Amino acid sequence: MNNSNHNENSMQKGEISGAFLLGVVYAFAENNLIPEDAFPFNVNEISPQEWYPFDYFFKTLEVVEKEIPDADNIMFWAGVNFLNIWYHHGPGKELISSGLDWIYANNESGGYNSVARGGSLDEIGWCRITDIDVEKGYVIYENFNPFHSDFLRGLFYAGCILFDDMEYVTVETIANPHKNKGRIVYTTITINFRLKKNQELDTKINDLNLKTPTIQLNNDESQSLAWQVKGLQYHSLLLKAHQEELSAVLGKNLSNLRKNTKKLEDYILLVEEMSIKDSLTGIYNRRYFDELLPKVINSAKRTNELVNFIMMDIDHFKQYNDTYGHQMGDDVLIQISKTLKDSLHRADDYCFRLGGEEFGIIFKADTKEQSIEFANTLKKNIENLHITHSRNSASPYVTASFGLICQKANDIAGINEIYKQADDLLYTSKKLGRNRVSF
Ligand code: GH3
Ligand code: MG
Ligand code: MG
Repeated sequence: MNNSNHNENSMQKGEISGAFLLGVVYAFAENNLIPEDAFPFNVNEISPQEWYPFDYFFKTLEVVEKEIPDADNIMFWAGVNFLNIWYHHGPGKELISSGLDWIYANNESGGYNSVARGGSLDEIGWCRITDIDVEKGYVIYENFNPFHSDFLRGLFYAGCILFDDMEYVTVETIANPHKNKGRIVYTTITINFRLKKNQELDTKINDLNLKTPTIQLNNDESQSLAWQVKGLQYHSLLLKAHQEELSAVLGKNLSNLRKNTKKLEDYILLVEEMSIKDSLTGIYNRRYFDELLPKVINSAKRTNELVNFIMMDIDHFKQYNDTYGHQMGDDVLIQISKTLKDSLHRADDYCFRLGGEEFGIIFKADTKEQSIEFANTLKKNIENLHITHSRNSASPYVTASFGLICQKANDIAGINEIYKQADDLLYTSKKLGRNRVSF
């Protein structure tokens, strides 16, 4: 037994049959409703013959209730599943060989001794017959247990239909939470059943497969056949309810999946945007500038348009930081970025923080005059922010120096060249006294 997931401080004593765990897990995992790895143990290591800590059972129910809160019919088939596994691959075959055995077994064993064992009755629950009449075909159980009532319904249903000495079985349950016992539920289970009267009928029906043209049925046999048909109709009703519930749950999962996909797409957009924007100022970063400038130049080359590119650097910014503090310096970078952005009007105008206190602007202008005018407007807009800078040699306010490139696209030699030229022009502006545009 794999004990690795078992919590040593477990409150619940006793053990649960591996067949039970597998029954529940498969009912939900086979339809991909709950992934196998959501369960609190390694599903592939569970054997239907083995016994596991009772807490596995509680935790399994918790997973199911959390993942699929309204799954009555799926729970019902989880019970059916369990009993199939328990009977065919677990200890069930040695304990039960007839539907009637099943009906009495729980009484005789004093509880779920075949499903859960160890611990006190209060810890693992009990189940006992309160009333039975085989002639009339009913049996009533009291069940004091944490089992989901629809799971119990499926379990008793499967217990009866697994054996071919029963026909037409219905199982009803009424469940009430137990006041003082946490998860424990008090469930009344009523099974309506009929024992098969005539075994000959099965042989006759089998003969139909051997192409016997007609079968003669006596009164008993026709009655039994009617009960079997009724049983099949009931079975197909149960299956239909299961299918409908599965579709509903899968539909919900699909819509969750769609919602999550949308979230993921939004997240990807956000990450993409973050990767091209500067985190302090919110304008485009150097990375996007490097990507965009070649594109702008190539596109301008088709009609040999003017390419306008500004390299701009804040004047005496080191002194600004030294005088007013780094935080105030940051605020200046943010304000200037906003001013640049607000000064751009065309769809193809972009501003970038190229690094530190250095900015780039790519913009559209039809003539060189317009281009120079635009650069001077930017320069003025910055100074007009009137951010006091007592140590700026060019003005009482924060200013910037500009290098402006304004060239026909076909005259541009390359990215590095245009960048170098803009940098040289910026240096010229600095040398000539700052707060000016060189071109
Ligand atoms: P110049 O007029 O010649 O450009 O002088 P300057 O002081 O602006 O140039 P320098 O290159 O000597 O200094 C640039 C300063 O910009 C130094 C650095 O601390 C500051 N700086 C760069 N990035 C940031 C930033 O993100 N926040 C702040 N507050 N300051 C920054
Ligand atoms: Mg500077
Ligand atoms: Mg600089």
